[in-house]
Amino acid sequence: MSATASSNLAGRNDANSGGNIGTTATVKLLINGEFVESTTSEWRDIVNPATQQVLARVPFATTDEVDEAIRSAHAAFKTWKDTPIGARMRIMLKYQALIREHMPRIAKTLSAEQGKTIPDAEGDIFRGLEVVEHACSIGTLQQGEFAENVAGGVDTYTLRQPLGVCAGITPFNFPAMIPLWMFPMAIVCGNTFVLKPSEQDPLSTMQLVELALEAGVPKGVLNVVHGGKDVVDALCTHELVKAISFVGSTAVGTHVYRLGSEHGKRVQSMMGAKNHAVVLPDANREQTLNALAGAGFGAAGQRCMATSVVVLVGAAQQWLPELVAKAKTLRVNAGNEPGTDLGPVVSRAAKQRVLGLIEAGVTEGATLALDGRDVKVPGYEQGNFIGPTVFTDVTAEMEIYRTEIFGPVLVVLNVATLDDAIALVNRNPFGNGVGLFTQSGAAARKFQSEIDIGQVGINIPIPVPVPFFSFTGSRGSKLGDLGPYGKQVVQFYTQTKTVTARWFDDDTVNDGVNTTISLR
Ligand code: NAD
Repeated sequence: MSATASSNLAGRNDANSGGNIGTTATVKLLINGEFVESTTSEWRDIVNPATQQVLARVPFATTDEVDEAIRSAHAAFKTWKDTPIGARMRIMLKYQALIREHMPRIAKTLSAEQGKTIPDAEGDIFRGLEVVEHACSIGTLQQGEFAENVAGGVDTYTLRQPLGVCAGITPFNFPAMIPLWMFPMAIVCGNTFVLKPSEQDPLSTMQLVELALEAGVPKGVLNVVHGGKDVVDALCTHELVKAISFVGSTAVGTHVYRLGSEHGKRVQSMMGAKNHAVVLPDANREQTLNALAGAGFGAAGQRCMATSVVVLVGAAQQWLPELVAKAKTLRVNAGNEPGTDLGPVVSRAAKQRVLGLIEAGVTEGATLALDGRDVKVPGYEQGNFIGPTVFTDVTAEMEIYRTEIFGPVLVVLNVATLDDAIALVNRNPFGNGVGLFTQSGAAARKFQSEIDIGQVGINIPIPVPVPFFSFTGSRGSKLGDLGPYGKQVVQFYTQTKTVTARWFDDDTVNDGVNTTISLR
């Protein structure tokens, strides 16, 4: 066994997990407060997408290990649910300080395993950190309601009680933010948790998990299992799991929603997207073009809220050459290189998939106004790089318009009017995010009212709400009623119990037996 083989990748000493970990290092499971080596025979490499260096290996946990993690969460729930709300909140206060302190170290790991730039990795962590900060307000978020004297001497009030064991399944593209959407809010509400991070980049997630224990999350309250479909299916069907939060692709999210629901669980699935940016000719030209290039190509287009479709309305169609020129200026390089605008896509398979979709666009007759397929990155010849790519002459029937590409590819459509743009967006099955660029308040007001998309940006390209609101993707991008974080997730992670109570003094007049429903 090599010196690093037994290192706990969730450990502090793995500060440079992106660069210094030996090829045989293994990611641990977290069960009942202990980081343990899986006994599985199935492992997968975690690969730096800029270099193909194997950073570590992640296990696909066995059925028994998943069961053990869930049972540990179930046992911990008995005492955790009765832990005073202030005590739960103070753990989150400590946790947010620890995340802030360790952000540079975690960002380095995240960039190495996922590919995004260091500043963008810090943004990934920061957006999760904001949820942890909001979890510190749980004292007021989890309050019930009270109505005095609803009938003679009768009061009614509600309790918001935790559910029990909750599970979270997360995607590769935000290995910090999305786990932090889930377990801090679930735990601070009094639940216990089993997390299944993406098997592609779990190292930064594990560093955040370790900090949660350091902040004081008791053993068994937070558990982690790794793996793929089998582990996910085990979480969705286990009798002790009460609720499941999923973020990932539409195909898997739909499967998780159905399977979990069939087994009586509360499920929220946040899924794929095709986010449009509608540009009116009166928009601020420079600001708009900057926003489109940043939101279209940042993180190599691998954001669920990335702009992937640009709809140029009327005379805004003349802006296309400038958009292409701006895209050409973006620097493609490894995420840890200073000045990089976009790094590689996450895996060789992801690159092949994106290249296949670009090829499909060409075959279907769209025009490649900018072709990023042959981008060269000196020093990183093995990296999964694709340069900014822009398609024009795109129609709504083409595969590049209908399918989520999840790479640095913008497809541009032209329409004559704002009404045409709204009709186009509303016909698209996805409903995650949309942006309108204009200087007209009247146009913006019409747009926000008529557009059937859950998250609307007005001159904002990526309108992800801050954590005191909730993430509100809709239609084909979401299954389940309640979204992550904010007030909605407090509802998701709690159940309402209504208590109707009456108390008698010794001298209360005896009502006698009443066999009818009360009329007041
Ligand atoms: P994915 O669906 O492939 O994987 C998500 C999770 O599901 C992972 O933990 C993975 O291990 C697991 N999984 C994969 N295949 C499975 C299967 N057959 N059965 C059960 N579980 C399975 O998604 P990804 O590629 O990691 O992430 C990218 C996708 O996530 C994109 O579609 C993106 O739009 C979406 N996403 C959505 C949001 C949102 O809030 N709507 C946010 C981020 C990402």
